[in-house]
Amino acid sequence: MGTKRPHEPPKVDTPVQLGTLTDMAVPEYAVPKYVVPKYAVPKYKEPNINGDYFCQLHISVPRHFRTPKATPKTMTFIDKSQPLSDVKSPNRKPVPESDRKPKIVLDNPYLKQMQQRFAYVTILTPTVGTIVAIALLPILGMDLLTLGLFISFYLLTIVGIEVGYHRYFSHNSFRAHPAVKIALAICGSMAAQGPVIHWVSNHRRHHQYSDQPDDPHSPHLHPPATNLSEWIKSIWHGHIGWMFTSDVTNATLYSRDWLRDPLIARINQLYTVWIIVGLLLPSLIGGLVSMSWTGALQGFLWGGLVRIFGVHHAIWGVNSICHLWGAQPFKTKECSRNVGWLSLVTVGGSWHNNHHAFPNAAILQFYWWQVDLGGWLIHLLKRVGLVSSIKAPSADLLAAKTVLKTDSQ
Ligand SMILES: [Zn+2]
Ligand SMILES: [Zn+2]
Repeated sequence: MGTKRPHEPPKVDTPVQLGTLTDMAVPEYAVPKYVVPKYAVPKYKEPNINGDYFCQLHISVPRHFRTPKATPKTMTFIDKSQPLSDVKSPNRKPVPESDRKPKIVLDNPYLKQMQQRFAYVTILTPTVGTIVAIALLPILGMDLLTLGLFISFYLLTIVGIEVGYHRYFSHNSFRAHPAVKIALAICGSMAAQGPVIHWVSNHRRHHQYSDQPDDPHSPHLHPPATNLSEWIKSIWHGHIGWMFTSDVTNATLYSRDWLRDPLIARINQLYTVWIIVGLLLPSLIGGLVSMSWTGALQGFLWGGLVRIFGVHHAIWGVNSICHLWGAQPFKTKECSRNVGWLSLVTVGGSWHNNHHAFPNAAILQFYWWQVDLGGWLIHLLKRVGLVSSIKAPSADLLAAKTVLKTDSQ
């Protein structure tokens, strides 16, 4: 009675800081550091041959983080937080500093394949739909209802991306009423450019490494393009190609704030549902208003697929064109440009040099002639009390950063 069996691991009650645990049994992305408490008491802990400590923790993994390769409920970790002096084993090797830093991308072929498949479906389907819609124009024509559905759903979803995904979720450039937050996340998801947390992670990585090798979608390749075919390759990569080739950005590093928000995590998880809603709604409105199947088909094609095609290329144009050609009124570290002719269709997103100079600014209209529909909407929402704490650079800061004194660019 009370005697300890020889192979029983020693019980420990010292809390372990989860942020310092390195997973050894499952891929890194399956370690949901955000759903478990910051500290947890492991079941047991014992040194291995290298002097590292093994820990077993019982944690639950959210459904959208699980993979077919199974995520065990009990995971084994190496605890690298133990000070060397605590470890009795003489064989312990020091942990390199690089191993302690979280990686910017996930080394996970399964998730990369999923990202590629989603890219194929969400890029090819609207392209084919647009070709079909244009081919059917001589037969079905274009009425006011169809045009109205195209324009309204275009505005709704590009606002979801530019005002929601970009200015609110990526840059926290204003505070929003919960209803506005939910609406922006859903409208952005309907644009079929990826779930909100995935988009935010890629975009924050873009700002951290703008036009450097780790930028997910820079049109400036390394080494730089020197001939026409390399230029075409660069532009293709910045516009579309990156979605097929880039590694999956580590959301636990870039979007921890939104992963911790249960509502946004849920909207993120239901991404495909919002895309379907975005296709069904215009079909339903088109069919019911015209009381015809043709109206439903026109609504599906123009309010759904052609609209997705248009929003896709407008936003991708910001990634490609706005890092290549246009005015640079502000001195920034990367190649961002202001492209005035794109400002209407991007609801202000193409004032991209303004944006890189002041990433947290909610309004990108720094001069009266810089039309920023997204900014106007934010002003309007502020007026009715749904938005507050709009971030904006001071006049002094604007003047200090300006290098190009012009009234027309
Ligand atoms: Zn940029
Ligand atoms: Zn940005």
